[in-house]
Amino acid sequence: MQENPSKAAAESKTPGDGQDDASHATGRTPARSVSPTVATILEHNAAFVASKGYERYQTDKYPEKKLAIVSCMDTRLTELLLAALGLKNGDAKIIKVAGAEVAHPFGSVMRSLLIAVCELGVEDVMIVAHTNCGAQHMSGEEMVHDMRRLGVSDERISLARHCGIDFDRWLAGFGDTEESVRRSVDVVRNHPVMPPHVRIAGFVMDSVTGELVQVTCP
Ligand SMILES: [Zn+2]
Repeated sequence: MQENPSKAAAESKTPGDGQDDASHATGRTPARSVSPTVATILEHNAAFVASKGYERYQTDKYPEKKLAIVSCMDTRLTELLLAALGLKNGDAKIIKVAGAEVAHPFGSVMRSLLIAVCELGVEDVMIVAHTNCGAQHMSGEEMVHDMRRLGVSDERISLARHCGIDFDRWLAGFGDTEESVRRSVDVVRNHPVMPPHVRIAGFVMDSVTGELVQVTCP
């Protein structure tokens, strides 16, 4: 049987070598300085766990509806997406990424989809972009400008460019929403190692009403 790592760490700790004996004793990560927002979240979290608020969310890692959804990180969709689709905790694997784009065939979104299909039983994939998306009209040039404004030095930006990063390409917006959905559907549908039984469909959600419109994909 594998030993509990936090117990092992506590036992191997030499006396007087550092801080926070209590954290080792409880197995918790030592407290660090956090922002007021995170402090409030931690306070809520402790109360949530203590009052067993988690009980109504309990499920397992296998998605009940054998479904994975790629959607945008937009805050308007945080609860709206699941509510508008009639889904609850445990029903679907939700992969959130700016613009709901499957931008690279061997990037992290595609990796998540392959795990969802091959390890977790997913058979349906929905790509769900949305109206008025913040990622639609992004520009690499503007974002580099914003990086400078927020304190990133020219030296660091040049260093990234020297390492081969093309900001204009990497941080570009997608322009037409439906076209972006078609591209993502195409990447998933024609992926060389995506099992053939998986069905892929693309949609645009209204960011206000949650209405879903299917995108015709050739
Ligand atoms: Zn968006």
